[in-house]
Amino acid sequence: MDDFTKFRISNEIIDALTILGYDEPTRIQERVIPIALSGRDIVGKSQTGSGKTAAFAIPLCELARWEENAPEALVLEPTRELTVQVKQEIYHIGRKKRLKVPDVFGGFPIDKQIQTLKQKSHIVVGTPGRVMDHVRRESLDLSHIKTVVIDEADLMLDMGFIDEVREILSHIPEKRTLMLFSATIGKELEKLIQEYLHNPAFIEIEEMEEAKADIKQEVYETENEEKYGLFLKLLIRENPESCMIFCGTREMVNVLCRKLRKDGVKCGMIHGEIDQQDRIRTIEGFREGRFRYLIATDVVARGIDFDNLSHVFNYDFPTGKETYVHRIGRTGRNGNAGTAISLLTDEDKKMKQMIEEYVGYALPMEIFLEEQAGDAQQFWNRQKEKVVLKKRKGAGFHKTITRLSVGGGKKSKMRAVDIVGTICSIPDITAEDIGAIDVRDSLTYVEILNGKGKRVCEALQEKTIKGKLRKVRETRNNL
Ligand code: AMP
Repeated sequence: MDDFTKFRISNEIIDALTILGYDEPTRIQERVIPIALSGRDIVGKSQTGSGKTAAFAIPLCELARWEENAPEALVLEPTRELTVQVKQEIYHIGRKKRLKVPDVFGGFPIDKQIQTLKQKSHIVVGTPGRVMDHVRRESLDLSHIKTVVIDEADLMLDMGFIDEVREILSHIPEKRTLMLFSATIGKELEKLIQEYLHNPAFIEIEEMEEAKADIKQEVYETENEEKYGLFLKLLIRENPESCMIFCGTREMVNVLCRKLRKDGVKCGMIHGEIDQQDRIRTIEGFREGRFRYLIATDVVARGIDFDNLSHVFNYDFPTGKETYVHRIGRTGRNGNAGTAISLLTDEDKKMKQMIEEYVGYALPMEIFLEEQAGDAQQFWNRQKEKVVLKKRKGAGFHKTITRLSVGGGKKSKMRAVDIVGTICSIPDITAEDIGAIDVRDSLTYVEILNGKGKRVCEALQEKTIKGKLRKVRETRNNL
């Protein structure tokens, strides 16, 4: 058996995985899932694209008990973007089990998060600073936590979250499972592992294999003054369906984005100084295919997963050998072909050598030939073309799950049971057809499962909830 059923996980999870199109476990999932289900600590060395998130999300969702009111699992992420992405993955996997997966991160009104946390929460995902903030305000109770995941641990330490991570761990009960995932494991991280993990299973997915995947690599030598011109020619020649363009600094991301837009190339950018709401919007826009080219710094892009990138450009040459492997590993996934093009200036030559020693092969040097410039018209036409929106992840759920908004919330003392009571009085509808219920101030959202949303919505136009006829409408799925 090569599918997920061999792990003996519940049907609700298997169903969700099927809707997500996860038919077979990835290598890291093969190894992590059984160990995580057994409750042993894990150190996982692997990176984005390996299916690492689902590797821990599947056991977390399987082990979660719906009846429990306090959260039993906590996932720590270094950045807000990763928090949102990982929350979505866990939410989708646990959706049929009706798991509540609140996310908490800075730069977002804390009151709303407090309200969400007050409701049933099963798995909390957050950045260390905001998690600690909630613990101090007593809006997050860690006393029932059984599993903690520290994701992208090396980045977490690089970003200076070590004290917060330690403090959070000091609030977690002694008897717990700890899983730590990291692309690299340095001295400081080793210390943390020795201190906090008990007899962990070390699981490493060889990254060299990923570096050798079906990725065409090319390096072009250039001078700083000519870099942009050469880059644009290469971009026009390649005419990528979608690509990421990496720069070394935030300033460079700004400059490149400005120049490309001025030249009529549609693109988006993310870096640490951009407002987080905008960053999340840009990432979603790129995922949905609203624009084709995303310019980014390494730190902000770290861990963020995009399907099917045909190209990666190193506008600025990476400054670390592992960074090169991580960047180019964003293309050529799932058996698709990929191209990684790097620009090299004099200062980068040493790094190129180091990368070559690290990967064990020479990076092919190329020269741009005008006669291979390609059809520029095709490129500019494509800029004008409307991008076909790609399906949102989890769109498959929407066929069977409908989200209804119901007038009335906390202010009018609405409770989940009031809604369940009325819905269950509709012929042929049982509690099994009701998904997550989210009671807000003056509005309540309720998910109706099994394709029965329309029927419930119609029936509720004429049925009272808590003694009153309420305004009930279908709303957009929030994820
Ligand atoms: P990650 O490494 O967790 O960022 O995941 C990389 C991508 O692989 C994400 O888009 C996941 O949705 C997808 N993915 C995870 N597990 C599977 C699987 N078993 N089959 C197919 N795709 C998967």
